[in-house]
Amino acid sequence: MPRVMIKCPNTGKQIYTGVNLNWETFESYRFGTQSVPCPECHASHQWSRVDAILDETGGGS
Ligand SMILES: [Zn+2]
Repeated sequence: MPRVMIKCPNTGKQIYTGVNLNWETFESYRFGTQSVPCPECHASHQWSRVDAILDETGGGS
């Protein structure tokens, strides 16, 4: 299942939010505002649906 990624505002890298959604769910899901501990810069980032990117290729298992 695709991983929901956001872009780290400090490093510009994509980070995994810990959420997995398929496209159909992604379109209808009510995210609200989430927060994720960033593995790149070790800050905590707030994100919502407009920030989210689905990564279909990197999931592996
Ligand atoms: Zn970050």
